[in-house]
Amino acid sequence: MVWGTTLLFIDSIAIILLYEHLGTWFRRVPILRLFTSDALILSFDQAGFFIALHVYSSAPFEAMIGDWMAKVCAAFVFSVMIIGYLRFVEHEEPAAEHSVKGRNIADIFYMLTFRERYEDLLQQTGRDALTGVFNRRKLELMATEAFQKETIAAKPISLLAIDIDQFKSVNDNFGHKVGDEVLQAMAITLSRGLRPDDQLFRYGGEEFIVLSPNLGPAAAALIAERLREAVNTHSETNFRGSTISIGVATAPIEATDFDSLFACADTRLYVAKNNGRNRVVSAYSQLNQDTATSAV
Ligand code: GH3
Ligand code: MG
Ligand code: MG
Repeated sequence: MVWGTTLLFIDSIAIILLYEHLGTWFRRVPILRLFTSDALILSFDQAGFFIALHVYSSAPFEAMIGDWMAKVCAAFVFSVMIIGYLRFVEHEEPAAEHSVKGRNIADIFYMLTFRERYEDLLQQTGRDALTGVFNRRKLELMATEAFQKETIAAKPISLLAIDIDQFKSVNDNFGHKVGDEVLQAMAITLSRGLRPDDQLFRYGGEEFIVLSPNLGPAAAALIAERLREAVNTHSETNFRGSTISIGVATAPIEATDFDSLFACADTRLYVAKNNGRNRVVSAYSQLNQDTATSAV
């Protein structure tokens, strides 16, 4: 009795562990994943059981086959029943947002699998390992939603595209480690200059993005200028003489979706670069107007 219960307990743990690991291959095919983990553990059990029986009482090989097939069939029936239960019974849960209805069956197993959710959550926290600010993936996740929210509320949303000037020379002159320290100091200085609602992202390399909900073009240009000055002020101690260039754009005045908002800020960033760096280019900048006029 005690042995039977212990074995059942060990089997259950082993099935759960194997089920989680099989997620690498069968994540979207839960019935296969469930059946494989059940069948493998039961087969392992059966092999151990047979070896013990064979050693002690010379049980013939055929004795194992029949039992083993029965266990594999039971694993199959069990898997089908679980899937059937989740699809046809569980969906009557009253809480609509947790209901299975209309969702892929694999998502239900995903909810039951702690490790996978934990790993995905870690990924989705979206922090850049070096600077601790949000990363590019997080920007992609948040941007469209933030954009739509402000548009529906008829509020402006501004985007600042920030790039460290001549950053390659920091690495060349002081080494990669110092370059990393400059990036960390930059993230701290930039975040200190933002409002609580603003979000800072490291977009990649030495490029940062600020997403500012409910911020019009004039205020966005002012914040950008404040950030640029903050970096200049600290340039000797933390930044090894680095400066930043910033392109500013605001929706819905200058863009109707997030991609065009980003493109507008990025274009202005390159105007700033081409005009000597260490400057902000926004809708109000003389530089930007000159470029727009000459482009017409
Ligand atoms: P510009 O003013 O035109 O932007 O010039 P730049 O030198 O800043 O731009 P460029 O794109 O030529 O060089 C960017 C450099 O940033 C090259 C790359 O080695 C460095 N970089 C990117 N990511 C990291 C990082 O995580 N750490 C360090 N130390 N350097 C990085
Ligand atoms: Mg640069
Ligand atoms: Mg760059």
